[in-house]
Amino acid sequence: MKLQIAHVLSARQTIEKSVIRTPLIPSPYMSGVAGQDFLLKLENTQPSGAFKLRGAANALANLPAGAFGVTCCSTGNHGRAIAYAARARGLRAVICMSELVPQAKVDGIKALGAEVRIVGRSQDDALLESRRLARDENLVEVPPFDDPLVIAGQGTIGLELLEDCPDLSAILVPLSGGGLAAGIALAAKEIKPWIKVIGVSMNRGAAMHGSIRAGRPIEVEEVASLADSLGGGIGVDNSFTFAMCRDLLDDVILVSEGEIYDAMQTLYFEDRLVAEGASVVGIAAMKAGRIASLRGPVATIITGRNLDMAAFTDVVTGKRVTLGSVTVEGRAYGA
Ligand SMILES: *Cc1c(COP(=O)(O)O)cnc(C)c1O
Repeated sequence: MKLQIAHVLSARQTIEKSVIRTPLIPSPYMSGVAGQDFLLKLENTQPSGAFKLRGAANALANLPAGAFGVTCCSTGNHGRAIAYAARARGLRAVICMSELVPQAKVDGIKALGAEVRIVGRSQDDALLESRRLARDENLVEVPPFDDPLVIAGQGTIGLELLEDCPDLSAILVPLSGGGLAAGIALAAKEIKPWIKVIGVSMNRGAAMHGSIRAGRPIEVEEVASLADSLGGGIGVDNSFTFAMCRDLLDDVILVSEGEIYDAMQTLYFEDRLVAEGASVVGIAAMKAGRIASLRGPVATIITGRNLDMAAFTDVVTGKRVTLGSVTVEGRAYGA
């Protein structure tokens, strides 16, 4: 099947009562940096703490008749969205995650009543476990990004962006498996073909970036990052998001851990918002001067707020942060 705008429009109706139509607010500070209106789409205000509720709600509303439970692999936020949506529907949910997932995310999922399985060191390990569970325990597997219903759900953000700001010229989308970027690009370019949709990933383990360059889905090493929600591969048997991101994205830009650190501080001190490292990569790319020649307002997606508050406090108080083999030197904001 080929995804079309009709799938996104139908998702919008399906999830209307399950998700927040999030606000699009200006960032005065970032507008100064960009030289254009710079807008923030606040998906951190979704009840599960991240945009992934859109795709999860759409998938769960379309489960086969008689399904009594769901399973998934996740870097945290998809699992939390599935746990939230499953509880609302009285379904069993089993969330499979790797050891790299921060404890705050694990706790959040358990608090929603879902079962949690921690397996291995990568998303691939977690995926194998969720496939096994789907088979052995008769659960329906809901993929975190490579799924038409999930992509269509995330695409509803693209509809809202262009309703709220019809003259938008570019959208900076945090990019990992590509469900968010593929859905937004599909919807936005259907409405406004000349709009630029730019994916932003961290420069370590950027699976979609590497795959587009290689011309096929490649495997990457999973590493600890301030943008933990952007970790993991795109699946070597990728069916949807690889081709969609390759064909629809105008560019994919990479940012460093130091730039993400600075962007988390920026969003906190300038806009007084608390958001995950994965949420601020658009801000990081803009501040680093990697977004060229804007011709009108630009928006980025503040994708989620599910952080470890101790780690966040270290960042905003300018402490040094160690992520596996990488150390980000401490720096007070503006110093
Ligand atoms: C999942 C996630 C992303 C990336 O979305 P993909 O569809 O995997 O590209 C970005 N930010 C946050 C907070 C996420 O949870």
